[in-house]
Amino acid sequence: MSVERTFSIIKPDAVAAGHAGEILAMIEAAGFKILAVRMTRLSEPQARGFYAVHAAKPFYAGLVKFMTEGPIIVMALERENAIAGLREVMGATNPEIAAEGTIRKRFATSIERNCIHGSDAAETAAVELGFFFGAAELL
Ligand code: ATP
Ligand code: MG
Repeated sequence: MSVERTFSIIKPDAVAAGHAGEILAMIEAAGFKILAVRMTRLSEPQARGFYAVHAAKPFYAGLVKFMTEGPIIVMALERENAIAGLREVMGATNPEIAAEGTIRKRFATSIERNCIHGSDAAETAAVELGFFFGAAELL
């Protein structure tokens, strides 16, 4: 294994509910270094582009509406095995089946409103990091 970077979003539901600090604390407790962090809000074209892989899914329109409903926190994270490791700390997409102690088990309220995003592969992590952060922010 090697040190990797991954990209994460604290989604609008968790920011609005005041869970951002606790989610960041869980990420740090799992050994991630926060390389960069910023609060922002997705435009509709940005949300459509970010989740373009799901464009044909029945939940796509609802997902875009959800991801644009309020501010989000975007993060660049670094750790050994960061990509798979963050997905483990996040828990399953559906909080009903997420493992105990995971972020989604604790804070997600539905399969849609599931409080956090994490990149799913090295290629998507690189694209997503580049979408939100400039090279000078990731030194
Ligand atoms: P993310 O990409 O946000 O990290 P994920 O990789 O666990 O989540 P995906 O299958 O990529 O899950 O789905 C992207 C997002 O779309 C989910 O996190 C969730 O917000 C929403 N979503 C996924 N499946 C459904 C569904 N069946 N109904 C409603 N929303 C869904
Ligand atoms: Mg995904």
